[in-house]
Amino acid sequence: MNNIPHKGKVYLVGAGPGDPNLITLRGKFLLERAEVVVYDYLANKKLLQHVPAAAELVYVGKKGGGLHAASQEEINQLLVDYGLAGKRVVRLKGGDPFIFGRGGEEIEELVKAGIDFEVVPGVTSATAAATYAGIPITHRNCTASVAFVTGHEAAGKEQSDVAWDKLATGAGTLVIYMGIKNLPNISKKLIDNGRSPDTPVAVVRWASTPQQRSVVGTLATISEVVQAAKIAPPALIIVGEVVKLRESIDWFEHRPLFGRRIIVTRTREQASELVSRLEEYGAECLEYPTIHIEPVEDFSVLDQALAELGSYDWILLTSLNAVSYFFKRLHEKGLDSRALAGCKIGVVGAATADELARHGIRADLIPAKFTGEGLALALIEAGGVQGKRFLLPRALKAAETLPELLEQAGAGVTIAPVYQNVPPQGRKDELRAELGSGTVDLITFTSSSTVTNFLAMLDVKDADELRALLGRTQIAAIGPVTAETAREHGLTVTVQPERHTIAALAEAVVAHCRRS
Ligand code: SAH
Repeated sequence: MNNIPHKGKVYLVGAGPGDPNLITLRGKFLLERAEVVVYDYLANKKLLQHVPAAAELVYVGKKGGGLHAASQEEINQLLVDYGLAGKRVVRLKGGDPFIFGRGGEEIEELVKAGIDFEVVPGVTSATAAATYAGIPITHRNCTASVAFVTGHEAAGKEQSDVAWDKLATGAGTLVIYMGIKNLPNISKKLIDNGRSPDTPVAVVRWASTPQQRSVVGTLATISEVVQAAKIAPPALIIVGEVVKLRESIDWFEHRPLFGRRIIVTRTREQASELVSRLEEYGAECLEYPTIHIEPVEDFSVLDQALAELGSYDWILLTSLNAVSYFFKRLHEKGLDSRALAGCKIGVVGAATADELARHGIRADLIPAKFTGEGLALALIEAGGVQGKRFLLPRALKAAETLPELLEQAGAGVTIAPVYQNVPPQGRKDELRAELGSGTVDLITFTSSSTVTNFLAMLDVKDADELRALLGRTQIAAIGPVTAETAREHGLTVTVQPERHTIAALAEAVVAHCRRS
């Protein structure tokens, strides 16, 4: 699986500016094979989802001027130690590792210690901030040069390493990293050295993320603008005529759901279609799966049936989970697909049939209508249900239509629970904190069980507590049944599409946010 020959190697990987989709393919490839990941404050935590579960995660976050989780010397030593221990280490750094990231120093230490290394570039925050603020960093009509500068050292230093006098008029566009605290000083130096006080300036915070904020002014006014808007690091300062182009090019912050925070509750089956649709419109989605699938504790009914499989005529599988948990137990009992040779197998639909095919078995019956009822009617129509025995491995709680219809037609049905849906544990405090912060605009529900399981996760004692916790947070429901369940639990539904699909729900959310 690894395809990487070397052990004891450190990969310095650029994480990109913030949006986790802006990492390189090479960076993702290495994260997927890492044994240790040493990561920063600026590297998006979502990138850690690529890392194997067994890998060791080491946070060495540094906030500019604030908390230092680890000193640079400690980080260097850490990388050397892991390298010497023979580990495959990914050192994940915000933006590009060699642009104001002290990546050079880390590599020098590895070289000294004789440790193998590789450096993977990243999208640096300067280009991302410009792009996502609608500013082409160069433009034929405005500028032919751009300079990346650190604003960090401008403050007290008598002898600055930055030649502000030459930079002031020497480069068309200036992009200044780490300069927010020194902004008054920086603007003054640029003006004093001949740059026009009217030069347009943009400041972009948390570029390329749902938290992005940008403001514009001129060299003369930008300090006040930033102060009034309370813009704190991390932010970049972009100086030059190109900033004017933003008026017509700004796109990222204009997406219809930009700045909206939406809780998406979902079941496992729905994957994250809704999340990707809402994110395309610029929303920040907080995902709360409301269903967790587990095997049942008691397999006695199935075990008994497996011991006397010869007496069954049919096995009916009505979900992907039923197929996987049924076969898991079969294998645990030392059996395989051959044990089912004497039974016919019916499935509920094409996806279940595909899952069954992965176990080397072709379904004997797939109904035209992909429901439990459809399966029952297809069996009855085909004749030969009367007096036959059916084994139904399924969820602990499930609709009873299929077994009832078969029994009415004279069949014997054995219901063998193999899996159960349980509300996920452990995210109650996090969820309450999110809602309590008053920054969640909307919660989406796509089925009645997402409503009930979500409220179970939230664990409120009554409707008053629920209302207090929700505050101004709005509720969206995919259709009338889901909406009704929400209302029964004291929620007010304000968004509901006419068609009951995920796509229509996303569009209804957009329409709602455009109105409000
Ligand atoms: N190696 C990084 C820069 C590290 S220096 C890179 O290539 O981007 C840290 C500074 O980068 C911050 O103080 C800020 O000025 C800038 N920065 C990093 N990420 C940023 C972001 N998402 N938005 C705005 N500025 C950012």
